[in-house]
Amino acid sequence: MPPSKEERREALKAVYHQALGCTNCPQLAATRTSVVFGNGNADADLMFVGEAPGANEDRQGLPFVGQAGKLLDTLLAEIGLSRAEVFVANVLQCRPPGNRDPHPAEIEACQAYLLRKIELIEPRVICTLGNFATKLLRGEPTGIMRLHGRDEVRVVGPRAVRLYPLFHPAAALYTPSNVDVLRADFARIPELLALEPPPQPARADAAGVPVGGDQEPPRAVPPPEPLDAEPEAEPEPELEPLASPEPAAVQLGLF
Ligand code: URA
Repeated sequence: MPPSKEERREALKAVYHQALGCTNCPQLAATRTSVVFGNGNADADLMFVGEAPGANEDRQGLPFVGQAGKLLDTLLAEIGLSRAEVFVANVLQCRPPGNRDPHPAEIEACQAYLLRKIELIEPRVICTLGNFATKLLRGEPTGIMRLHGRDEVRVVGPRAVRLYPLFHPAAALYTPSNVDVLRADFARIPELLALEPPPQPARADAAGVPVGGDQEPPRAVPPPEPLDAEPEAEPEPELEPLASPEPAAVQLGLF
């Protein structure tokens, strides 16, 4: 039996608690203010994956809260969506000092968290924002200049999803003509969300036939390794309403 929406949400909270204490990247763990797990709808059809938290995100513990986040909000509003309806995460959960590029070892160390989020949220469409997320989730080095605006079905970890690479909003802000390109690519998101969800590969724990027949899409990223540490025992977060600033509820933004 596939897990229910509530079970997936509870499991996501457990991963969140685990991430809070993560020291897989000793340098990042030592220099971060917050672990930026991601936030939004824990059952979103649409997920965005950026690169890594910047200074604002590190301070607030939330993804895309600076200028790039404002552009993301604007573009979402233009297609009739809000941040509350989508889930936003990053390749890395911790800020690289000085906003340097993520190191390959850090991407590798954080990958299981991202794959687990994807597995538990079950998005139909994942927009990879920029090169780091695009290369990681496609499992290939082709860059964003060639791939932006082209959707394709890929198996990411245990799930088939429609990947849709987009320019990173921060990079688009740097080159204003790229905002128009990003906006034009964004305009296709509703059409992608309206497509039939991609057929899923057979679940490792399920006997029998794949749900979607025998045509499996290309496997981009292998199924996740188990996350090694056990979740810390912490009091249950208040989920709704979000009035009290309980960290897990605010971070996860479970609407
Ligand atoms: N850039 C990113 O890639 N992620 C954020 O969360 C903020 C800026």
